[in-house]
Amino acid sequence: MLKKSRLYSILFNKCPKCHRGQIFKHQSAYWPVTEFDKMNQSCSECGQNFVPEPGFYYGAMYMSYAFYVMVILVIVPIGLTWLDLDITTLMGILIVLFIILTPVFFRMARRAWLAIFVPYSGEEKKELG
Ligand SMILES: [Zn+2]
Repeated sequence: MLKKSRLYSILFNKCPKCHRGQIFKHQSAYWPVTEFDKMNQSCSECGQNFVPEPGFYYGAMYMSYAFYVMVILVIVPIGLTWLDLDITTLMGILIVLFIILTPVFFRMARRAWLAIFVPYSGEEKKELG
């Protein structure tokens, strides 16, 4: 079920079209530290182009923004009510959390953006005729 959904490629760094090739060169978002943003130009398995046009990933910034907002919507209410933190401490926690999560959100946003435009084709079905 998950294997055939767009979520699979978003979560596991797989080509949205075939779910076999890798989108980013490295499987880990944290190692090597300076190469978390390095993408493959195309899928090694099916040849799907991962950079369809210049500026394609500008839209991924909005996805990334949405991820950060989700973190704020979870952390701020918990921090202010259950943990009874003051706003300065809460801001410090959020800043540290955002720095730690940046490589993960950057990659997830690009994979999600690509998955919107490239549907899963599964095992290539042969058309009759
Ligand atoms: Zn592929």
